[in-house]
Amino acid sequence: MGDVLMYHRKQTRPVRVGNVTIGGNDQVIIQSMTMTKTADVKATVEQIHRLEEAGCQVVRVTVNNEEAANAVKQIKKEISIPLVADIHFDYKLALKAIENGIDKVRINPGNIGRREKVESVVKACKERNVPIRIGVNAGSLEKHILDKYGYPTAQGMLESALHHIRILEDLDFHDIIVSMKASDVPLAIEAYKLAAEAFDYPLHLGITESGTLFAGTVKSAAGLGTLLSMGIGNTVRVSLSADPVEEVKVARELLKTFGLLANAVTLVSCPTCGRIEIDLISVANEIEEYVSKIKAPIKVSVLGCAVNGPGEAKEADIGIAGSVGEGLLFRHGEIVRKVPEKDLVSELKKEIDALAEKYEKT
Ligand code: SF4
Repeated sequence: MGDVLMYHRKQTRPVRVGNVTIGGNDQVIIQSMTMTKTADVKATVEQIHRLEEAGCQVVRVTVNNEEAANAVKQIKKEISIPLVADIHFDYKLALKAIENGIDKVRINPGNIGRREKVESVVKACKERNVPIRIGVNAGSLEKHILDKYGYPTAQGMLESALHHIRILEDLDFHDIIVSMKASDVPLAIEAYKLAAEAFDYPLHLGITESGTLFAGTVKSAAGLGTLLSMGIGNTVRVSLSADPVEEVKVARELLKTFGLLANAVTLVSCPTCGRIEIDLISVANEIEEYVSKIKAPIKVSVLGCAVNGPGEAKEADIGIAGSVGEGLLFRHGEIVRKVPEKDLVSELKKEIDALAEKYEKT
């Protein structure tokens, strides 16, 4: 294997999506997609609110029929994060969604059909500053590309992306975001690398059809993590066969791992061993859930015993270590006080809240 080439996500073109900028900076925006029928405004808005609360910054809905395109108007009124329409080829649905205030359209211009149709979508997007995401997918490459390569390849995916990009550029349209999805992780990595070398439009990362919560999380972490660590990617969607809130949770954890999510709590918990003195697994899970919505850069540590305990977690702003029938509360490796086991979790939560409040004030 050759040297790992570093890319700079900053060196991409900034594209506005509603009140969010994708590209041109070091941020990676978290996206997800609803699984409700878009026309069911109540259910869709409810799901979007849950996603927002979990930390989703841009949300996509399928616009697969006229009712869905019409629902965009009302959904927009009830949410505060940018809304993206997922459209396969029906330009009329794209026009309707744009008219109804959509913030971004995911459509491949090469699939729209006649030039006039493409022109009408691009014109509407230009008038309302609506960007277009070109979604290249290894599973649905154009026939001429598949004929050339015989099967989906990274080079073929790049050719597909350039084909769609050229159509938009010929119409002097440049508010473009591109995804190069594949469910095969090495293929997706290769395709995104080629894309990052070939053009400076922001990249939307995704490993498509990655699987269930467990397997999909591992696959996504491997693929997206590799790309993020190389400096590739301006927005990310983790695709899971699960509640979309789980996608956002995984994305947040992934971004935290690479220092790309500043305002979030990092939880460190010990791997457990025979020295364990408390029910660490349930404590760690409870604290993880508790801190998931706290927007402050706090490090929390949860350790099963005090033998190597506090000293092992010097970087933690706050932490607990189990002991017989009780626990130790510590800050930056220094013991603050002893707490009875039954109060350990509630005391830790109080301390976390106090720290979070401090951050809010500063
Ligand atoms: Fe074992 Fe204690 Fe270390 Fe946890 S903190 S792994 S229980 S020695």
